This record gives sequence, C-alpha cells and structure tokens, in this order.
Amino acid sequence: MSSALTAPLPTSLLPDGATISDGVLHIRGVPIPDLAERYGTPLFIYDEDHVRERCREAIHAFDSVAYAAKAFFNKTIARVVTEEGLSIDVASGGELFTALAAGVPPGRLVMHGNAKSRRELVMALDAEVGRIVVDGFDELGRLEEMVTPERPVDIMLRVTPGVSIHTHDFIKTGQDDSKFGFTLSTGKADEAVKRAKASDHLRLRGIHIHVGSQVFRAESFAETIGVIAPALSAWGLPELSLGGGLGVPYITGETAPDIGEWSKVIHGALAAEGLDHLGVGVEPGRAIVAGAAVTVYTVEAVKELPGIRTYVAVDGGMSDNPRPSLYGSGYEAFDPHHTDRHRPVEVRIVGKHCESGDVLVDDAFIPEGIGPDDLIATPVTGAYGHSMGSNYNKVRRPGVVFINGDGARLVVRRERYEDLLATDLG
Ligand SMILES: *Cc1c(COP(=O)(O)O)cnc(C)c1O
Repeated sequence: MSSALTAPLPTSLLPDGATISDGVLHIRGVPIPDLAERYGTPLFIYDEDHVRERCREAIHAFDSVAYAAKAFFNKTIARVVTEEGLSIDVASGGELFTALAAGVPPGRLVMHGNAKSRRELVMALDAEVGRIVVDGFDELGRLEEMVTPERPVDIMLRVTPGVSIHTHDFIKTGQDDSKFGFTLSTGKADEAVKRAKASDHLRLRGIHIHVGSQVFRAESFAETIGVIAPALSAWGLPELSLGGGLGVPYITGETAPDIGEWSKVIHGALAAEGLDHLGVGVEPGRAIVAGAAVTVYTVEAVKELPGIRTYVAVDGGMSDNPRPSLYGSGYEAFDPHHTDRHRPVEVRIVGKHCESGDVLVDDAFIPEGIGPDDLIATPVTGAYGHSMGSNYNKVRRPGVVFINGDGARLVVRRERYEDLLATDLG
C-alpha cells in the first residue's frame, strides 16, 4: 500500500477557506462538525468565498463568462455568480424559472438545450434572455415561426467540431456521433450559419462549442480551436463561446489546469489562427463550484467481510452523489473531526440505497476506528452532486449550507417527509 494513499487528506482538495484546528475541519472559521450536528446529515457545505474567487478569476481571464447552472443551482448560487458579473447558462425551463426567481437579469441568461420544447422557447423569448444557443434545424425552424421582426432574438449556433477529447464517454460531447449541435464535418454547421444569417428574425451573434466535461488537458481546447478555425474565419461572426469542461482534481495526485492557464491556452490558440478579434466566452460549471464544497455524512453501519473487504455504509449515497455510480468517479474520504489523521484503513464507502451500485467511494482510505455515528466527509462535491441528486428510495434531498466571512447559513433546507408527497395526488 503506497504511503500517498494512506497519508492524511491533501488540503489542496479542501475549499480555499479551510483550516484545521486540533484536527477539526473549519471553513472560514466555522467548525464543520457543528454544522452536521445543527442541520443533520448528509449536508452539503459550500465555501461561498471560494466560489466568488473562481468567478473573479474567470471574469478576469475571458471577455464573457456564463456559469453552467446544471453543475449546482439554487437562488443563492444564482445571486452569488451574478454579483460577480457572470451570466448564467440555463438548459431547461426549470433552470430558467429558478434563475428568474432569483432575480437574475434576463439579459444575462443563455438558454441551452438539445430538445427545447416550444413552451421552453416561449419562456425564453418572453423573458427576453440574452442568447439562445440553437442546437438543430428543428429548433431553428420553431424559432423562425415564433420570433417576429419587431422582437428579434440573439442566437448562437452550437457546432459539433468532430473532436473526441479524453474523458468519460457520457460526458464527451464534441465528437461527430453526438446528439448535440450541428456537425462541422458534414456541412450541417455551414448550412445552419447560412440559414440563420438569412433570417430577418434571428440575429446570429456567434458560434458555440462545448466538447465535454472534466477535461484535464488545456490543449484539448487548442486542438478544438484548430479544427474549427477555418470555418470561423469564413463565417466572420463576432462571438465564440468555448463552453465549459475545465476539469478539477478530485483525488490525491490529480492535477488540472487552473482558469488562468485555460485562458492562456485558448487565447494562444486563437491568436495563432488570427482569430484574436473574437469576443471569447466560456461556460464553466465544475471549475467554479466543485472544489468549493464538502459533503458530510454519518456512518450508520460497518461490515467487515474477512478476506474480502470492509463496507462502511453512510446515511446518503447515489441520491446525493450519483457520479461514482454513473461514471465510476473517484473521491477521497476523511473524518472532519480528525482531518489531519493518516488513513490506513481501506474500505468501500456505500450509501443507503437498495442497489449494489450505490457506491460513494469504491476504494477509500480512512482513519482507524471509524464506526457508527461517526462523521465521514467527501471533498470536491460542489458540482454534479446536489444537482444530479434524486429522491430514490424516497430519501430526502440534503440541505445546503453556505459559509462566508459572516458565518454559515442554510440556503437550501433538507427536504421534509411531506415534501415527498407534495405532488402525490393519491
Ligand atoms: C455541461 C455544460 C457546461 C459546463 O460544463 P463543466 O464541465 O461543468 O464546466 C457548459 N456548457 C454546456 C453547453 C454544457 O452542456
């Protein structure tokens, strides 16, 4: 067993505001076990100032930045990113509704989606969102019918550049065989640009590309720019959005480019192609929020299977973090009462759902002596955890706490049992 695995949790995986005092994890001075006690577990705990700092880095590095709502969304995060000057990507009527309810100026909303319904398009047009990113010819046709010359709409076209980046198949989106966008290689993208340019109702502002998520090589973005550069030059549109996708480290030993390096590679590639006049936007989700949060669980049961493995079962699971079961994603685990302890015990951390696939950390290393009623926490759970969660097994969705310099506050309460019956007309 290598010592790197059993070493204490690397503090680089904790939010910016984390400090450890007598082993106890604090964020901006707030002891994390106290929050678990007060609000119950599982609990998502976000360092708000960490989110704000990532927003500032992004705004500094690009002409425009939209936060991808799907990574983690509620009224509070909508206000935080808006205050920092970001726009917001919404990809459904529900995300649009939530952003409007949070008071986000509609001009700062970008409407995405590969299967927007007529109703969602009407919502977006009525709200007067800043941009609609059109994903296909059916949508182009629907918009042309709905939009009047008196109230034209600003659109971008989502183009599939035909590059396959190195990440999980389910989160790759730039290859030709994709449900997203107009393909470049088949001439569909060119046809869409011609059609949109010819429309009196649609104002074509630019091209949108999103090649995938959890991308660890900034060069993947440069390669994408290389592929699409000749078309961009030919089309002569003022804006380019390169989507999101910047990866973040989740486990010991992983490294990813930061937002500044991402920007440097992108701007370098654009300059090399003579495209540095373009207004360049990005849409990070994960890179803004993933590292900002930890999830705290309570251990309910420990089973030692001699010669096989030890299972540590906690009070959450795939309903608050489906990433391990969906993508086989790895996480670290630690004890927030003893954050700096060595972690010599190899276990599998599982949830409470009726599925063997309900795994949170397949091969976790934890300190000695963890048993029922102890806390276990996983870092880097700020993206695609709460937002992808479910009520499977009628498990209630966890609460969310935000911490800033003024202290901690509950921004999403944990569901109550009655919430589970709110739509049940039985
Ligand atoms: C998912 C998505 C994003 C955000 O991706 P991250 O990997 O979270 O940065 C941005 N734009 C579009 C169109 C997306 O689908």
